Amino acid sequence: MSQKIFDKIKNSKLRTSNIVRLDQNSHLYAINSLAGILKNTLHEASSKFDFKIDFWSSDTFSKNTKIFFSLRPTADESDEIKSVDVIVDNYLTETLNALNLLYFHKASISDNKKYICKLVAEEFFCLGLTVNAMSTIKKYTSLKYGFQGELDKETSRKAASYTALQQMFILLHEFSHLLFKCNLISDSKFNWFKENLIIIMKENTSANEAEIEKYISENKKIFEECYCDSFAVEVLFEIINDLEESYNFKDICESIALSIHQLHILERIKEAVKGREIDLSLQLIIRQLFLNTFMSMQCFKHSKTDLFSSEAFRKQVTSTEKDIMSQTDVFIINTIAPYTDNLISIANYYYNKVTNELILDVIKSTTTQDETIDSSDQLDDLCFNILMQLI
Ligand SMILES: [Zn+2]
Repeated sequence: MSQKIFDKIKNSKLRTSNIVRLDQNSHLYAINSLAGILKNTLHEASSKFDFKIDFWSSDTFSKNTKIFFSLRPTADESDEIKSVDVIVDNYLTETLNALNLLYFHKASISDNKKYICKLVAEEFFCLGLTVNAMSTIKKYTSLKYGFQGELDKETSRKAASYTALQQMFILLHEFSHLLFKCNLISDSKFNWFKENLIIIMKENTSANEAEIEKYISENKKIFEECYCDSFAVEVLFEIINDLEESYNFKDICESIALSIHQLHILERIKEAVKGREIDLSLQLIIRQLFLNTFMSMQCFKHSKTDLFSSEAFRKQVTSTEKDIMSQTDVFIINTIAPYTDNLISIANYYYNKVTNELILDVIKSTTTQDETIDSSDQLDDLCFNILMQLI
């Protein structure tokens, strides 16, 4: 890892004092088997690379899993990748697990508000606004979790197993950005993908053509983001049987849908504590819409593999239209509907219980730090110690 990146992470407000390179003996759930898959994918995609990929584990309040590149300048001024460092933030995983627990235990608005107070306090602390952080902690302590005491064991196990899937989804998504960086995504494939995404947007939103065009021209990254989501979903569906834990397709769909909402909550909090109210809702809707369609397609493809053989296709061609219609109905009821219902209930939960207003509410109610006051080291230490104890 380059010294610059190392210093950057080292100097961020770490919860633990070190960054560790992951090796075969690491205990990080799910990551080892995935590291191998990621390396193979990249090497299969192209054999011309001679850079190395390292996986690092960090544990910071900033909750970021990222990929960094070290570049080797070449004579023709196009930078070549020298090495890739994948930094996996354990605390991001832990936070997603907590949000999963809240979801599966059907947490109330007040429960969610309490957890949001914790997340907001951490963000203030990372920005050096210790007084705001302390004030948010006070708010946190004034609220009580409704499901305090015993958590249901089976539900908690489910939450943890979903967290492992989410960790893989995030890593694969970030890894896909690496494929873009290496120009491994062909233009024709990406253009085809873009066209389809625009169709999904047109068919599923009330936005008119001009609004969609405007949004796209201002948010060019949305295509890459959705593409990276699709890559992650595809790989997860492929490797589902190689994972230690046994999962079904529904688990993948549900855990990814949850993580999209949860990552947006974290993103919103990061922006809101800086006083920025960027509107991520459209981005969320587009990623969600796309994933709902794409994941259903993947479920179909993987659960009906025989349909994709040419022989089965020929058999289908001889079916009457009535046959096909009744088969389609059965398929929708048995295969698509259960996933869609699940995704809708996740979306409803987050719209009702963890809305933007809830986050803004918490932030508005905190005492603002006078900018002329530099918080002392002593106060920083105290705040850090308290933050480490919040659950
Ligand atoms: Zn991304």
